[in-house]
Amino acid sequence: MYSRVCFISYHELGLKGKNRSVFVQRLVENVRFVVDDDRTKVRKISGRLICEAPEGVDIPALAQRIAQVPGVASVSVADVVGRSFDEITARVVAVARTAIQATNAQTFRITAKRSNTDFALTSRELNERLGSAVVLQTGLKVNLTQPDLEIRVTVVGGKTYISAEKIAGAGGLPVGSSGRLISLLSTGIDSPVATWRMMRRGAVCIGLHFSGAPVLTDASIRLVHEIGEVLEHTGGLATIYAVAFGDIQREIASTVYPGLCVLVYRRVMLKVAAALAMRERAAALVTGESLGQVASQTLENIVATSHGIELPIFRPLIGDDKHDIVSDAQRIGTFDLSSRAAEDCCTLFMPRQPETRVTLERMEEACAMLDIDLLVEQAFDAMTERTYRCNR
Ligand code: ATP
Ligand code: MG
Repeated sequence: MYSRVCFISYHELGLKGKNRSVFVQRLVENVRFVVDDDRTKVRKISGRLICEAPEGVDIPALAQRIAQVPGVASVSVADVVGRSFDEITARVVAVARTAIQATNAQTFRITAKRSNTDFALTSRELNERLGSAVVLQTGLKVNLTQPDLEIRVTVVGGKTYISAEKIAGAGGLPVGSSGRLISLLSTGIDSPVATWRMMRRGAVCIGLHFSGAPVLTDASIRLVHEIGEVLEHTGGLATIYAVAFGDIQREIASTVYPGLCVLVYRRVMLKVAAALAMRERAAALVTGESLGQVASQTLENIVATSHGIELPIFRPLIGDDKHDIVSDAQRIGTFDLSSRAAEDCCTLFMPRQPETRVTLERMEEACAMLDIDLLVEQAFDAMTERTYRCNR
């Protein structure tokens, strides 16, 4: 007889010294929150978490969900048996046979660990004896360095957990351990990745989106909420605010020199974000900017647009190549949504020749032609919100 569980590891938390137990407890709560089922138990056992679900629950699907929780290093679906060597051997051989059928594996290794020193065999003895049994009974060959199949056997707390596949987790720190941020969230590829990166560092993120409504449709608002539904799986997205920004852009476009429009839109967006941060008690802002990626993101333009914003602005993608950002977007599941065309406020009143290297002086001159505080107030009047499931 055996049962199946999710076997969860969280290596980075191991580094946190005295705070470790607080972080682990937070991770336990976040996994419980994302699992969202009273009958499913999540508990700690010596440096790991175990998630036990009642009969009928799809354990591999559960493992996929848990893998998305920040702080989780990896998840495997493990078969659970007792501590008798015969029982362990039988299950290890069965796991090997299943893997041979599924993946046509030719080589394997056993990676055994025991946390109980009262167990009769050492880890090394376990590796050797289980390895011999698998060779004899399945015909697989041992390969310690590059096996097709790695069977992990962990003896801990009176039980033995046996698994063959490991799903990479989000990594990082559990959400709730790093405060709150306002994230400027477009429907593009970059800002959802930037937001996810900050959630992965333990921050609760509050999205702020600017649409071109009422001049354009509100298609980008619907799309940003679809992106929100993907990010929601981390448990780190609290709310997305959406501002109908079209009228404000029209006013900016009719006032300032066309080449500076986009930069002034950005400045006003940051001002709105900073005001929202006050209201939401958030400590900093996040953008998806990457140095030099587009005209608005040259060093000069980034410096000029963010001048005078009192809060720190985090740009987790600033040194990344597009290629790396795209692969993260694919990994977290936002890429296809972000590749869909939805006109947002960026497409509105675009100058033919955007300024690539604005000076601070010209930027301040342009902003002085507008009543920015009033524009920020107008933005708040044109704001809607939707909350997400978040373990705040
Ligand atoms: P993204 O892929 O995130 O849209 P991008 O490469 O298109 O970024 P820009 O359009 O210059 O770059 O935007 C830079 C950053 O400004 C974005 O990453 C985002 O944080 C913020 N931003 C841009 N447009 C919007 C918007 N409509 N709503 C909210 N934030 C935005
Ligand atoms: Mg964009």
